[in-house]
Amino acid sequence: MTSFADLQLAMPIQRALTEEGYTTPTPIQAGAIPYLLQGRDLLGLAQTGTGKTAAFALPALHRLLTHPRPLTPKSARVLVLAPTRELAAQIDDSFKNYARHMKLRHAVIFGGVGQGRQVEAMRRGVDVLTAAPGRLLDLIGQGHIDLHDLEVLVLDEADRMLDMGFVRDIKRIVALLPKSRQTVLFSATMPKAIEDLAHSLLHDPAKVEVTPPSSTVDRIRQGVMFVKSEDKRAATLLLVKNPKVQRAVVFTLMKHEANKVADFLNAEGIRSEAIHGNKSQGARERAMAGFRDGSVKVLVATDIAARGIDVDDVSHVFNYDLPNVAESYVHRIGRTARAGRDGWAVSLCDAEQRAWLRDIEKLIGKAIPVVTDHAYHSEEAQNSTMRPPVLGGGGRGRNQPRGGGQRSGGGGRPGSGSRGGNEGGRPSGGRPGGNNRPQGSRPSRPRSK
Ligand code: AMP
Repeated sequence: MTSFADLQLAMPIQRALTEEGYTTPTPIQAGAIPYLLQGRDLLGLAQTGTGKTAAFALPALHRLLTHPRPLTPKSARVLVLAPTRELAAQIDDSFKNYARHMKLRHAVIFGGVGQGRQVEAMRRGVDVLTAAPGRLLDLIGQGHIDLHDLEVLVLDEADRMLDMGFVRDIKRIVALLPKSRQTVLFSATMPKAIEDLAHSLLHDPAKVEVTPPSSTVDRIRQGVMFVKSEDKRAATLLLVKNPKVQRAVVFTLMKHEANKVADFLNAEGIRSEAIHGNKSQGARERAMAGFRDGSVKVLVATDIAARGIDVDDVSHVFNYDLPNVAESYVHRIGRTARAGRDGWAVSLCDAEQRAWLRDIEKLIGKAIPVVTDHAYHSEEAQNSTMRPPVLGGGGRGRNQPRGGGQRSGGGGRPGSGSRGGNEGGRPSGGRPGGNNRPQGSRPSRPRSK
């Protein structure tokens, strides 16, 4: 497996990655970064949650470090176009994070807020500009931005930009860029319109695709329990207390929820550890060692953190939250039933996540058996037709834009309009401390619908 050291990124970048707790490149990173470091154009087929931001950000930063150049007023060396302001802000945050040991001027531009600070941020020029197309064109039109010496253009979530009607804006922006540049296009899907756009923008591109898995292993017995969100902790306790559970991984969407679930289970006497991107590498390694040697029974993990879980005898996977990306379900439950063993995967589904369950069932091509004989069954969740929450930037897995640090450019931070974009998006379920103790019996084997 490729390591970040193999990719030979400049040291300040490698240091930032180590501090972020990134140990191995994700498949899209391992595939794309070497081409981008060579200066090739690239067509990347990858969804949110695959690590695609770092796949284009790290080589861009490497280039800035290895080819320093004074900035020209109003200009940018790297331009990332993104469909929404939330995504633009998150990309900008990622650049800031990965560039924490280098000097980087960066700005983020999007509509819906005053333009004054954005214009000011661009006045002296920036290394990296992340922008939504509409406002960018406005500011170019007003003479505040001049992209004639751009070196790298990235189109992120190109299919979404097309869906949102940005194709003409993109073409107008591209017409203002120098011909000799590196162009990178990421898209989750490849409809004809994206193919055409790629063909018109990219020169002899390398293609990197991360194919989402779509089938589940038959040896994994699956079940879903419909519950109210406030009963999820108690239901999780009920599940992990089952004596058949030897080692379990519990998945949450949010890092803070992972911490809370682990604290709750520990308070209930079940030895648990949370692992997620905010934990130091040392803490993660200790948690994994405990999980392997059996002293830790439950690992509570977010999707990305779970990449590092390579333990053969996970007897159960519990989805405290369903993933909003259906393929992640397949990844998650694939943590059990390894090495020829059987495994269990039980998901808790509340009213908000009901629609995600339908997506998952569509992907795996079968209905997941429903378990109803437990104390927390909720008809309301089962029959919910609620629209699922819109996650910031289009995806879970894009964990928590990091606040705090000084931004060298850009306008005000957009309101992170959803629970996906921050850690505090939703009131937590359950009441740690025991008054949620399940009354019911142990879950029995899932029954078919
Ligand atoms: P993205 O698909 O770019 O939205 O990334 C999804 C999440 O994965 C973000 O929270 C990143 O911080 C995290 N991430 C990206 N690459 C890695 C990696 N190699 N190891 C661990 N986490 C990563």
